Amino acid sequence: MEERIYLDHAAAMPVHPEVARFGRRFPDGFVGNPSTIYQEGLQAQETLAAAREKVAALVGASAPDSIIFTGGATESNNIAIRGTALRNRKSGKNVVASTIEHISVLNPAKDLQKSGFSLTLAPVDRYGTIDLAALAAAVTPETVVTSVHYANNEIGTIEPIREVAEIVHDRGGLLHVDAADAAGRIPINVKRDGIDLLTLSGNQLGGPDGIGALYIRPGVRVQPVIVGGGQERGLRPGTENVFSIACMGEAARLAKEEMPEESKRLAAIRDRLIAGITEIEEAYLTGHPTMRLPHHASFRFSRIEGESIQLAMNLLGIAVATGSACTSRTLEASHVLLAIGLAHEEAHGSMVATLGRENSEDEVPRIVGAIEETVKRLRAITPL
Ligand code: PMP
Repeated sequence: MEERIYLDHAAAMPVHPEVARFGRRFPDGFVGNPSTIYQEGLQAQETLAAAREKVAALVGASAPDSIIFTGGATESNNIAIRGTALRNRKSGKNVVASTIEHISVLNPAKDLQKSGFSLTLAPVDRYGTIDLAALAAAVTPETVVTSVHYANNEIGTIEPIREVAEIVHDRGGLLHVDAADAAGRIPINVKRDGIDLLTLSGNQLGGPDGIGALYIRPGVRVQPVIVGGGQERGLRPGTENVFSIACMGEAARLAKEEMPEESKRLAAIRDRLIAGITEIEEAYLTGHPTMRLPHHASFRFSRIEGESIQLAMNLLGIAVATGSACTSRTLEASHVLLAIGLAHEEAHGSMVATLGRENSEDEVPRIVGAIEETVKRLRAITPL
């Protein structure tokens, strides 16, 4: 039996072995509650502070207190969108987001319409790059918060965040950037990039699931979305998940250290995959050919269905994605692929391969061969 090849790191990443080792060393398996002031509580506070520093360093934030820990990227996005819109409603009642944001950005933005906000969606081009002229027209002095992700999880395209920030700030609004997939893969610096709020995911850095962070530039006012105690500046009340926070901090430290080498290594594998797979008849790259995440290769194949590709590849020992794991159960065509101009039937034939540290260049021939075989077999039986 050949070893399995796992190519869905955007859906779930194995915990980095060094993070797992760090976790095992964790103070004898017990930490106190950081809200207490005896020794065990103070140790927990120190653990949180150390993790905050490591996460802040990854994204170039100078104040560690500008980082709050959350239950994941979905929660960070909700706090960022709802929290800033509601808290700053006196300065305007419009929210702007790109058409290809993750649903955990789009859904809270849509939901704000019930509270009297208008939502303007800013279009992207056929590569998924935000249309800056359209954005400049969409963002007005009424716009409280604009949300544009650093990179897209389905097509890998990296957005021109500095240009986006200039447009947003010229009109006096706040910029939220979802960097769940980009952080740890490409350099991010909240100051250089002009980011007011930044979403991070613990698992996407090589830490555990169910933990995330939100950078909030000092001075930006945010209203709590969940109410309870005063933890995480009252913005994420509830006893902190100290163990996962510590592991996320360590994952952020390792990601910063390993990014230059590891991203170069993954980009080389990605490029070989893209070269091999686009040789297949009626196989096309989706997303930007060069401005894309180093670990991300995404395609569409005419006349076959993504789910069938996924199942067939699984039987050949390879795990790939079709669209996003977050929406794939709905069987609807991906809003991202429709927004870059694909027809419904084109959008249904998508396949996404996201690489991680255990992948190697040696796997490329087997992956390309398996896709060739799958595509040929499925096309032979397709009614399309
Ligand atoms: N934003 C982006 C860009 C994502 O890709 C994801 C999921 N991978 C999320 C938000 C949501 O993350 P989570 O499911 O961990 O809350």
